[in-house]
Amino acid sequence: MKEVVVIGAGPAGLSTIKSLSEYKDELNITAYEISDRIGGVWVNRDPYKHTATFDSLRANNTKEMLGHPDFPLPSDIQESFIPRSMVLDYLENFANHFQLKQFIKFRHTVLNVDILSSVNGVEKWNVMVRNEETGAVTNKKCDAVLVATGHETEMHIPEFEGMKTFTGEIIHTRYFQDSTYYIGKTVVLVGAGFSGLDIFTEIHAVAKKIYLSHHDERIKATLPENAEYVPDVARLDGDDIIFTDGRVVQADIILLATGYRYDFPFLSENCRPVVKDDHVTNIYRMMVDIEHPSLYYIGLNKLGMPFREFSMQADLATAFITGRIPAVSKEEMQKEYEERYKKYVTDPGLRPKDFHIVCLTQFEYADTIMEQSGRQKPGRVVSEKIYRRVMGNALKNFLKFKKSIYRLVDEENFEVVYEDPVYSKP
Ligand SMILES: Cc1cc2nc3c(=O)[nH]c(=O)nc-3n(C[C@H](O)[C@H](O)[C@H](O)COP(=O)(O)OP(=O)(O)OC[C@H]3O[C@@H](n4cnc5c(N)ncnc54)[C@H](O)[C@@H]3O)c2cc1C
Repeated sequence: MKEVVVIGAGPAGLSTIKSLSEYKDELNITAYEISDRIGGVWVNRDPYKHTATFDSLRANNTKEMLGHPDFPLPSDIQESFIPRSMVLDYLENFANHFQLKQFIKFRHTVLNVDILSSVNGVEKWNVMVRNEETGAVTNKKCDAVLVATGHETEMHIPEFEGMKTFTGEIIHTRYFQDSTYYIGKTVVLVGAGFSGLDIFTEIHAVAKKIYLSHHDERIKATLPENAEYVPDVARLDGDDIIFTDGRVVQADIILLATGYRYDFPFLSENCRPVVKDDHVTNIYRMMVDIEHPSLYYIGLNKLGMPFREFSMQADLATAFITGRIPAVSKEEMQKEYEERYKKYVTDPGLRPKDFHIVCLTQFEYADTIMEQSGRQKPGRVVSEKIYRRVMGNALKNFLKFKKSIYRLVDEENFEVVYEDPVYSKP
C-alpha cells in the first residue's frame, strides 16, 4: 500500500481526498487539518484559525459554476449566487456523501515536510505533525504529499511611501467581518479585485464616503453618490492620501483589498518552491513539482471555477500516484512549463502572478488536465457559458451581478430567470 498525505481539508483538500479514496484499496490516505472542521476559508469565525471570509459573503460564481462536477449543488436552490453558509453546508454534504472525514485528522498542524530518501529519483517523504489537542509531535513517512493549504492566509501589503506617518487606520480585508465598523466613516478602498468589489458592495450604504482606488480599466460601473473612483495611491503624508493624479483626500480608514501571497512555511528548504513575484515557479500544469514529482499542489489556481479545477487536478494527481498513467519526464515537464509561461505571461505581456489567474485560460487548462487523466467531468459546456455571462456582467456593473438568477436547462444550455435591467442596456 502506498502512503499518501494530504495537507488541508478545505475545498481543494476535500476534492483530493475524494479522488484518492476511489483507490483506497491501494492507498493509505491521511489528511491533516488545523481546524476541527472541514471547509477552509468558507468557515467564518473558525475558533482555531482566522479565515479571510466574512459573514454576509456570497459566492461570486453561480451554483452551477461553484460545485464539484461529480456532486452538483441541489437544483432546487432558487438563487444563483449562494451565501457563504450554504457553500459550507454544501462542502459538509460533499464530505459526508463521499465519506471523506474518516481520512482526516482534525486539529493536526503539519509543521514540516522534508525529503526522507531518494532512490533512483523516487523520493519518500517525512511529514512532521503536531496534534493540537495533546501537543504531541509525530512523524509520518509517505510516498506522496499533496499540498492543499489554500492561498489566502499571507496578506499582500503594499508599501506606500510615508505609510508610517498616516494618522488613520490601515486594515487588510482579511479582517473584514461586517459593515458596522464602517458606519459614517470615510474609506479609501485599495484594489478592485473580487474582494475589493464585494466589500465595496457591503459598505457603500453605511459609509460616509468611499474612494475606490484601482487601475483596472475594465471596472467602469456607475458608482453610488457617496463614492468615486480614484487612481493608485502615490504616497501618504500624515492626514493626507495622495493619488498618482495629484489628488489629495483625507480618510478614516485605508482598507487594503490587495490580496494574498503564496506561502508554504511547512515545506523544508529542500523542497519549497521558489515563489517569484507571486508566481510559484517550476510546477508542471500548476500541480506537480518538477524537481520533486511526488509533491503535488492542488489549488494554486486563482479565480475561474476553483472547485471544478481542484477536482480535475485531484483526479490527475491520483492517476499519477496510482500509476494509472505514466510519469512524465522532468525534461518534458520543464519544457511544457516554460512554454505555458511564455504563452500565458511573457507573450501577452502579463505579470508573473497572472500565471495562476485562470479566468479565461481555465477552459484550455481544464481540457488539458482532463485529457491527461482520462476523466471527463460533466457540465463543461454550460459552465463555460454561464461563466462568460457572469464575468461580463460583473465587469459591466459589479454592484448588481449577484442578484441575477440563472437556470440550467441541460448540459449545454441555461436560461436567464432574472438580471438587473442595467445588463440589457448597450
Ligand atoms: C473573501 C473570499 C471570497 C471568495 N469567494 C469565492 C467565491 O465566491 N467562489 C470561489 O469559487 N472561490 C472563492 N474564494 C476562493 C477560495 O480560495 C476557494 O473557494 C477555496 O476555498 C480554496 O480552497 P482551498 O482548499 O485551496 O483553500 P482553503 O479554503 O484556504 O483551505 C485550506 C485548508 O488548509 C488548512 N491548512 C493550512 N495549513 C495547514 C497546515 N500546515 N496543516 C494542516 N492544515 C493546514 C487550513 O486550515 C484550511 O482548512 C474566495 C476567497 C476569499 C478569501
